[in-house]
Amino acid sequence: MNYTSLEELQGACAECMACPLGKTRTKSVFGTGDAKAELMFVGEAPGEQEDLSGVPFVGRAGQLLDKFLYAVDIPREKVYIANILKCRPPKNRDPLPEEEEACIGYLREQVRLIRPKIIVCLGRISAMRLIKPDFKITKEHGEWFERGGYLMTAVYHPAALLRDPRKKEDMLEDMKRIKQKLDEGKGEYKA
Ligand code: SF4
Repeated sequence: MNYTSLEELQGACAECMACPLGKTRTKSVFGTGDAKAELMFVGEAPGEQEDLSGVPFVGRAGQLLDKFLYAVDIPREKVYIANILKCRPPKNRDPLPEEEEACIGYLREQVRLIRPKIIVCLGRISAMRLIKPDFKITKEHGEWFERGGYLMTAVYHPAALLRDPRKKEDMLEDMKRIKQKLDEGKGEYKA
């Protein structure tokens, strides 16, 4: 893949049949937000609401993510949000390795075109794919890693916070650290 714009890439993604999920999706869910975002969030795969709307993180989990962004004063329109898989796995099952392999090129191109300063994995599946295969979300959320010249971290997936609200405290602390890192980056950039 070597696309010159996100629009062109999105067009290819909308037609994609590179794995069986292309046959069962309603809409592919490419990604949304600022094409020049400094902060990019990467989740696992679209859910039911996302499959219907074609927009990532619009369901309950997405609304919760919005609240955390608001709490640390990061405008949602200033970030970019995407998933590892662009089409919904049936019954929201975990992505299969071969589906991730077929789809990951779209995310790589999104990152190449957007060039964010920080990439935040939303949940275990995304962190295992983008940071390291043995990533332990309960132990390693909020830690910083460098991969391919990008600063990366992982936080709980908002759906996990809906299942276990006790994790919200950790999520807020992680989001504060992300905001702080963003602001530090701006200081260095200005200097
Ligand atoms: S999940 Fe990815 S690789 Fe599979 S059909 Fe959808 S866009 Fe193509």
